[in-house]
Amino acid sequence: MEFLMTEFIKKKKTGQELQKEEIDQFIKRYSSNEIPDYQAAAWLMASFLNGLTELEASCLTKSMQHSGYCFDFSHLPEAKVDKHSTGGVGDKTSMILAPIVAACGIRVPMIAGRGLGHTGGTLDKLDAIKGFDTKISKEEFIKNIEDLNFSIMGQTEEICPADKKLYSLRDVTATVDSIPLICASIMSKKLAEGIDGLVLDVKTGSGAFMKTLDDAKSLARALKKIGEDNSCKVTAVISDMNQPLGRHCGNANEIYECVELLKNNKSEIEENKDTFELSINLAAHMISLGKGISLNEANELALKSIESGEAYAKFLELVNVQGGDISSIKKPEYFYEIKSNATGYVKEIDTESIGTAGIAIKAGRTKITDPLNYNAGIYINKKIGDFVEKGEVLLKVNADEKDFHSAQNLLEQAYTLAQLKPSDLPLIYEVIS
Ligand code: URA
Repeated sequence: MEFLMTEFIKKKKTGQELQKEEIDQFIKRYSSNEIPDYQAAAWLMASFLNGLTELEASCLTKSMQHSGYCFDFSHLPEAKVDKHSTGGVGDKTSMILAPIVAACGIRVPMIAGRGLGHTGGTLDKLDAIKGFDTKISKEEFIKNIEDLNFSIMGQTEEICPADKKLYSLRDVTATVDSIPLICASIMSKKLAEGIDGLVLDVKTGSGAFMKTLDDAKSLARALKKIGEDNSCKVTAVISDMNQPLGRHCGNANEIYECVELLKNNKSEIEENKDTFELSINLAAHMISLGKGISLNEANELALKSIESGEAYAKFLELVNVQGGDISSIKKPEYFYEIKSNATGYVKEIDTESIGTAGIAIKAGRTKITDPLNYNAGIYINKKIGDFVEKGEVLLKVNADEKDFHSAQNLLEQAYTLAQLKPSDLPLIYEVIS
């Protein structure tokens, strides 16, 4: 079949439905660098503006999944279950729930991503652990799944190369927040993992790509449909992202929060209750899917794995085997403060601005080649519903001085106060299972 990229772009631009063969050709040629980024970017924008039909999104997912190697863990009798988040700020649950679920006897083959837009990425956080290798080979990944029950790696030239390239391109062409493009990106990686169950953490709110609950529900349903069409059981948890999750946003400081929660540090659990509760809840959904037990029973197993120290031991095993040095993660220090210029209750936090400020202090990037400052981070001192006196600290920041000044304005504008205490936000809005 003759394939012309200009015709492919034109077809999407004029709202015609693309055929499976054309989508296959695009993904095959783009993955092997035969199509330049500027043409792929034009197609992404046309798809962003005109949308993709259900059939197009499903074909795109399949093509992307098969752009590289697909794992097959059918020789392992235990269930293979993963979790994926649609992206948030301070969203660090993967590092907590993966060892919990692995400690409960379920295999967790996790292919994760880097920061995308204003949201953080699991791989960047893990890279903050000195020596931790997220670029392991597929053979090492398989061995970790066999020996430890879990492993975390990134998309590579071998695994989901199409998503590796498109993910970076979407990040810099303002084409991230599109339901079909998010679906294809997430589900191609997840289906390539060879899993039989998936828990999706679909975020909604000011720091999510889906700002409204209705959009989050549409995304959850679209993701679930693709999973089920491919024999993968899916539970979608719609969770709140109207404020950063936990207290620490960045990379090394988020790992610190995870480590303390895994160590069952009660004061840190109290301080980062939302991170802890969401991680346990998502882990319980994974265990429930994998073992076919009730959510309550699964919840108990998840909590037990923390209390017994097994989950933390699992985490350390992974850090060791992937070359990391956990002693490089220290209690974070914050050198700058953002103070309130009024008195009242915190009513809203513009969480996307906190994420964008994170990019300004180099905890995230605007271009894939941008270097990160792994210690740069933001501490959320006041959360929604807290009472604040004028002059009290809202946020603390660790950054180089110049970077702090470029983020300062965004951070100063991020809080909205009110005289009346706002009602509590739910951590979880809905579960679609
Ligand atoms: N996570 C992904 O892996 N891809 C997206 O497009 C959004 C969130």
